[in-house]
Amino acid sequence: MLNPPVILWFRRDLRLADHPALVAAVAAAKDRGAPLLPIFIWEPGLIAGPRASANRTWFLRESVTELATSLRALGSDLIELQGPAATALPRLIGELRAAGGVGDIDLFMTRDHTPFARKRDRAVAELLTPLGVQLHAKRGLVVVEPEELLTGGGTPYGVYTPYFRRWLEQVDASAPLPAPKKIPSLPTPTPASTVDQALLDAHAVPTAQIDQLPVPGERAARAHADAWRRSVSEYANRRNTLADTAGTSHLSAALHIGLLSPRELVARQLPLPPLQEGERSGERLWVSQIAWRDFYTQVLWHAPHAARSAWRPSYDAIKWSSDQRALEAWKSGTTGYPVVDAGMRQLAATGFMHNRARMITASFLTKDLLIDWREGEAHFLRHLVDGDIAANNGGWQWCAGSGTDAQPYFRIFNPVTQAGNFDPDGEYVRRWVPELAALQTPAIHAPWAHPKALDAAGIRLGEQYPEPIVDHAEARQRTLAAYSAALKPERS
Ligand SMILES: Cc1cc2nc3c(=O)[nH]c(=O)nc-3n(C[C@H](O)[C@H](O)[C@H](O)COP(=O)(O)OP(=O)(O)OC[C@H]3O[C@@H](n4cnc5c(N)ncnc54)[C@H](O)[C@@H]3O)c2cc1C
Repeated sequence: MLNPPVILWFRRDLRLADHPALVAAVAAAKDRGAPLLPIFIWEPGLIAGPRASANRTWFLRESVTELATSLRALGSDLIELQGPAATALPRLIGELRAAGGVGDIDLFMTRDHTPFARKRDRAVAELLTPLGVQLHAKRGLVVVEPEELLTGGGTPYGVYTPYFRRWLEQVDASAPLPAPKKIPSLPTPTPASTVDQALLDAHAVPTAQIDQLPVPGERAARAHADAWRRSVSEYANRRNTLADTAGTSHLSAALHIGLLSPRELVARQLPLPPLQEGERSGERLWVSQIAWRDFYTQVLWHAPHAARSAWRPSYDAIKWSSDQRALEAWKSGTTGYPVVDAGMRQLAATGFMHNRARMITASFLTKDLLIDWREGEAHFLRHLVDGDIAANNGGWQWCAGSGTDAQPYFRIFNPVTQAGNFDPDGEYVRRWVPELAALQTPAIHAPWAHPKALDAAGIRLGEQYPEPIVDHAEARQRTLAAYSAALKPERS
């Protein structure tokens, strides 16, 4: 092998379309007449660590398999390696050098911004640069990179609305980069896969029902995104209805591992329809959700401490409850609050939870049970197919009041009111808490307050369905006291 290969390291960019690193890697290989070596590295910490999710690993594994098939159709392949990357990559470079590859090796990848990815990429750069490897990190995971958008004072944004305004101005609305028609061939000899299949087999069996998980792979994600474009104008009216399974895009899992380019999704919606007075545009609102994704990515990028502690440090002084029984009831969807239980059971069964239900269940854990948001954050990460460190952390800290742009802590969701507003016919609760299906609204949202309806339906609380584990009004007072005690020094 005279020309060492150009390496393309796939990470959270498992697609061929609108992929700047792929386009650059193919061009570099063609320029030099070099082979191209696409690789994927399985990180044991992400597969088997405490924040891993079998649902997510299953989705990832199937998507990696589909990417390999697509690459083979273009004359290439995907070489899967066992991580950690800091071990796998130097070993690979050694192998390529031993096969006769002299001169610099170019390695292309898409930038990733999570604390884990930053640490990994720093370590990899330190190890590979002395081995003559040039690293090229391209954009593609978010629409606007974290450093590209700062306030006039040069500080990161902590408030979403002005961020979104400026973000929209920064979107690159050009046409998507086409998927390559052909990919330069693999180096010979081709490095062998080193994947620990037994480890993957053990950690990629979904805990959710497999037929409820999103269809993996770029092809299905694109088809789904195309279909969603026909519904997006309805988004403003339908996105908050808990029982409406087609009211939101369900593209979060695909976006999480880069089966789709968020920039392409946004560019396809531009220009946004002009807003008439008082009108709510589904397209604008939906694009603004993609901006939330970028927003939380940049929050964690600029304030990595938020991954483990409160973004507003004073909130770390809150004295959380250690009631394990209450935590277990929340996790298993047996709190006695039907809309909370419905959300938690949807999560367990499907690896997904409606955004409104995420807010209701997170608020219930932190404000009604006064349990540390990190417990909920970790539980969500263990189940969500779209589990994303930045979006999940941002969502949890928003609900706990400790994050950017959070709602003031004294505004506490009432789960019964939320249920009445966003599940007006009780259809969501009926679907996920079937033991209450015979109840109509309003009884289905607060069964304890409707003894006659319970009798008529033959339901006994404490037998078929639990009594509420807390009284919301009392819990609210307890939470206000705990928050106010912790935050007192901040106000004085
Ligand atoms: C407590 C809590 C935890 C959350 N955890 C996650 C998570 O781990 N991963 C995740 O992707 N989203 C998370 N979200 C945000 C949101 O609930 C999901 O993105 C959304 O429900 C996914 O459904 P969808 O694809 O149909 O979204 P749509 O409503 O169709 O939105 C389109 C896309 O925008 C992005 N998006 C939407 N809302 C948000 C948001 N608030 N923050 C960041 N990005 C957003 C997602 O990529 C989503 O696919 C969380 C929200 C809360 C309140």
